[in-house]
Amino acid sequence: MMAEWIVPPKYAALAAEYPALTLCRVVLQEKGQYRIVSEQGEQPAAVSGRFQYEAAAPADYPAVGDYVMADPNDGETAVIHHVLPRQSVFVRRAAGTAHEGQVVAANIDTVFLCMSLNNDFNLRRLERYLSAAWDSGASPVVVLTKADLCDDLAGRLAEDERVAMGAEVIALSALDGGWERLAPYAAPGRTLAFVGSSGVGKSTLINRLLGGDVLATGGLRNDDRGRHTTTHRAMLFLPGGAMVIDTPGMRELGLWDAGEGLDTAFSDVERLAARCRFRDCTHENEPGCAVRAALERGELDPARWRSYQKLTAENARAADAAGYLAAKEKKFKEIAKFNKTNRKR
Ligand code: GDP
Ligand code: ZN
Repeated sequence: MMAEWIVPPKYAALAAEYPALTLCRVVLQEKGQYRIVSEQGEQPAAVSGRFQYEAAAPADYPAVGDYVMADPNDGETAVIHHVLPRQSVFVRRAAGTAHEGQVVAANIDTVFLCMSLNNDFNLRRLERYLSAAWDSGASPVVVLTKADLCDDLAGRLAEDERVAMGAEVIALSALDGGWERLAPYAAPGRTLAFVGSSGVGKSTLINRLLGGDVLATGGLRNDDRGRHTTTHRAMLFLPGGAMVIDTPGMRELGLWDAGEGLDTAFSDVERLAARCRFRDCTHENEPGCAVRAALERGELDPARWRSYQKLTAENARAADAAGYLAAKEKKFKEIAKFNKTNRKR
């Protein structure tokens, strides 16, 4: 059922500290229920009572991609006791609530930021994706899809490379074997994810890496409805030992809190702002404003500047919400600790 499960050495080492438990990876998370894989295969799982007892924050609960230490419970519903430290994590505000951080996926090594070269090309969206990716700890790679449908490949590449700030940019077509350029990232034990608008070709690329039509693609859905029943998997195992996390939340990467990643995505703007005469320059009408000067000289694209302002403002609001959340959690933790000590007496 499953290709080989290859554990990154770092997690194998961490797991050795829990000899009584089994190292597993979360492959699905839905309404407090989990599915995990181990060398034994896949099984359902639930978290141990410890999470509730210690009033764990939402972000402390296991998420898709987490390496966890669990008791397999003879193949019945396993019990997850510990979440091993995450090396990267995508967090976003939960839908409908301003104050909850939700972990969408953990431990992604490479995130492919996909835009199609025919009609989905949008540098502002790319800036947003890049900020979120750098903030997560995963390495972003920009993938420009459907190169076969683009007349001005060189022009598009140049524009993208300016915005990518050092991230690799790959232009390819899934029709002619171009997907093979993604293969080096799919080394054994590595975890990949694909982000991008619907229809840009993510499923097609994942299918190429899988070596078969596992995911339904837009084209197939249109001409041949129903033949490919999408039993949608949150985690896919590639033949070479790499894994792909493919959840709706990861694909969209819509309103992410960009955090520290903004500095990297807009390092050119930050460098300019650092040259303003006043340290607290608002870049509105102060004398000696390096940002306004660059805009006037045409050295800073006004659209890029507006995008930066918009993302920084959004991020400030998210940071307020995060502060509120942290305060609330601290309080709940204190309450739990208080109850615990009082129960012991
Ligand atoms: P997703 O929604 O991002 O997963 O996109 P799909 O993989 O479902 O692809 C959407 C449509 O674009 C399908 O009809 C694909 O066959 C088509 N497509 C994917 N990659 C390419 C490409 O490189 N070139 C062209 N011309 N079409 C492509
Ligand atoms: Zn200024």
